[in-house]
Amino acid sequence: MNALPAMTEMNALIPPRSLTALPASHAPWGDTMLAHTGRATDAFGGLVNTPVCRGSTILSNSLEEWESRKQPNNPMASYGRFGTATTKAFESAIAELEGGAASIVFPSGLAACTHAIMAVVRHGDHVLISDSVYGPTRQFANRVLAAMNIEVEYYDPLVGGAIRERIRPNTRAVYVESPGSLTFEVQDIAAIAQEAHRGDAYVIMDNTWASPLYFNPFAHGVDISVQAATKYIVGHSDALLGVATANPRAWPLLQAGAQNFGQIAGPDDIYLALRGLRTLAVRLRRHQETGVFLADALSSHRAVARVLHPALPGDPGHAIWARDFRGASGLFGLVLKPMSAQAMSVLFARLQLFGIGLSWGGYESLALPVDTPSRTIRPLHLEGPLLRIHAGLECAQDLWADFSSGLDAAWACDGH
Ligand SMILES: *Cc1c(COP(=O)(O)O)cnc(C)c1O
Repeated sequence: MNALPAMTEMNALIPPRSLTALPASHAPWGDTMLAHTGRATDAFGGLVNTPVCRGSTILSNSLEEWESRKQPNNPMASYGRFGTATTKAFESAIAELEGGAASIVFPSGLAACTHAIMAVVRHGDHVLISDSVYGPTRQFANRVLAAMNIEVEYYDPLVGGAIRERIRPNTRAVYVESPGSLTFEVQDIAAIAQEAHRGDAYVIMDNTWASPLYFNPFAHGVDISVQAATKYIVGHSDALLGVATANPRAWPLLQAGAQNFGQIAGPDDIYLALRGLRTLAVRLRRHQETGVFLADALSSHRAVARVLHPALPGDPGHAIWARDFRGASGLFGLVLKPMSAQAMSVLFARLQLFGIGLSWGGYESLALPVDTPSRTIRPLHLEGPLLRIHAGLECAQDLWADFSSGLDAAWACDGH
């Protein structure tokens, strides 16, 4: 990265812009819960934080204690693979935040997505998956589920209650993600869940974009909610982690499924996620404000065709977002007007505050050019290059100055 620009100078060049109105209440309950959940101060000599507990073998003092550890849901008795105090602290915190019965941690977000599906499906089942699903989840479905004789059908993320026509007697899972990966379509989760539950299908939701604070999956009929904790929960781009939370109906399946596969995450990464949780509400408010500010400012730039951000009043998903969500995170899409490859190079060469890289949810801003995402049902019509923007915790005006100067240079490069 080049030397940082002089921030105050840049700020002086920018006319003040008003923020688009944000929802009055983000998730005030979250602030208090995040400070107190998942702690066991008395068990650790008064330490505020549950420490990193390392361990495989957990010794018993007597044969009687050993026997007493064989709980019905823990046939192997106490063992590191079933979790330590660090694991339990994180899982209980997430279960409380999501409002589910219980949670289980996975070594990555993708592992949480795939194991949530594997927990419920059986040979010969049919699963419905949103056409706007996270790309690696789509690949898992096409490669692994298909090879297991599980029929995968993609549905239009805007389908709502009309998903009824797609549901069959052997439909076992409806996998939703809202807003959609890269294209940010907002789904009517309650309407979809209502139809799915006419049969015995489980509704699994990838709830990473909103985090547990800005969307309550269980109040909208979801059975299993998945978080790529790598994103906002860890929040600092320094660990990979996933977590899945179930309602009472789905929990026995989810727990057994994870145990059958032997999935565990390391205590250091879980500790980082617990630590990230403490500031989640504060960070999200800032990600939201800056994201909305940038999205709003970008939507009137001459090099921009469209901004894909459900908190903007003109967005096609805005009405459902405003009805169902408590807030927006800092991740949104940007469709540029047609632009030459050379102009794109100029844009990215100019950017000093936006990193080019995968993942998101850290404190730092990112801008990522993405290939046209795979779609089966709902073809995408993109006017020009698609970018995914993550608004970090930097000063919003500095980010706008940086990005708009890149866009101006790219626009000029194409001779406009
Ligand atoms: C990043 C991401 C995942 C996967 O998380 P990893 O920790 O990278 O495996 C899953 N779903 C969504 C929506 C994501 O953005």
